[in-house]
Amino acid sequence: MAILDLLFPRVCPVCGRLLLRRERYLCLSCLADLPFSFFWSWPNNPAEVCFWGRLHIERAASLLIYREESPYRKILHAFKYNGCKGLGRHMGEMLAKRLLESGLYNDIDVIVPVPLHPLKRWKRGYNQATIIAEALSKAMGRPVEERVLRRKKFTSTQTKKDSIGRWDNVAEAFSIKNGSKFTGRHVLLVDDVLTTGATLEACGQHILKQEGCRLSIVTLAYVE
Ligand SMILES: [Zn+2]
Repeated sequence: MAILDLLFPRVCPVCGRLLLRRERYLCLSCLADLPFSFFWSWPNNPAEVCFWGRLHIERAASLLIYREESPYRKILHAFKYNGCKGLGRHMGEMLAKRLLESGLYNDIDVIVPVPLHPLKRWKRGYNQATIIAEALSKAMGRPVEERVLRRKKFTSTQTKKDSIGRWDNVAEAFSIKNGSKFTGRHVLLVDDVLTTGATLEACGQHILKQEGCRLSIVTLAYVE
């Protein structure tokens, strides 16, 4: 283990400091200062308000809250683009613990990650939302369902589009197959980050078309 640390030094993704042997994923100081949102036990929290008038949801929560320029954004960056799956799983476990403690997410039936286009998934090697969903599933004892909600369109980089173009782009990107699997179920839709909410809204619209289906949403981060 010590030799591995010398050959492949592990660093804290937030501050860039070398990790000590007892530190996992984050240094103790960044871990102690994690900007928790407390949305999980806060009805009408900003994540829920984000969907008002757009999507009929039961509840929404994020683990962390920060501004776009915060160094804590680097956690998701490391997880999403640098292959740090263990870090993502660890954050997913933190989120699961808080959802369970709040008691507000006990009636979830099935956990659904926001899908990646198969080509993107192949290039990245994994879907980051699935890793979070699997951590939630393990802790909450509910299954992950990945084959019903599908991404059919390879969306181009969204940041270069205006907001209307962006919505058209994302709204048509998803489809549902064998939607009866969601009939009468409370679906927990999962993604890594909530910013504009456009992707989650597009997915949620499809899910809520299934009869008697209810929807809640969780993400690792909420960006102000
Ligand atoms: Zn640090």
